[in-house]
Amino acid sequence: MAIERTFSIIKPDAVAKNVIGEIVSRFEKNGLRIVASKMLQLTQEQAEGFYAEHKERGFFKDLVSFMTSGPVVVQVLEGENAVLKNRELMGATNPKEAAAGTIRADFAVSIDENAVHGSDAPESAAREIAYFFSANELCDRIR
Ligand code: ADP
Ligand code: MG
Repeated sequence: MAIERTFSIIKPDAVAKNVIGEIVSRFEKNGLRIVASKMLQLTQEQAEGFYAEHKERGFFKDLVSFMTSGPVVVQVLEGENAVLKNRELMGATNPKEAAAGTIRADFAVSIDENAVHGSDAPESAAREIAYFFSANELCDRIR
């Protein structure tokens, strides 16, 4: 299995709960390495652009409002099968359906505020990484 990259967001609810470290620790303990990381406050334009695929959905406005409600941590994770591995660690979109021991089961309370984002495919990972990071911010080359 080739080394792959995925894109992650620790969402405003998880930042507010002070569980950034606990979430990052799960990535690290499961073979995912942080190769880029920054904390930022999304603008409305950034959040709308990031979630453009959902713009016709009824929850879009609330989603953008939530994602801009406080700081987030955007990261690039690298490892074997990183996209799928991160989705497994995250659990289902609705925390009520998320498997026990997943990030969403443990830290999220609702489908609206569900602690983390993770890319759903290698193609979306590449697009999402480029949306937030320039090539020289990806620190894998430093090792
Ligand atoms: P995921 O984040 O698991 O990839 P989606 O891409 O389907 O899920 O949706 C993006 C985000 O939009 C979700 O993480 C969640 O915050 C929000 N969302 C999705 N479906 C709903 C819904 N039915 N009601 C409210 N918010 C939703
Ligand atoms: Mg998605």
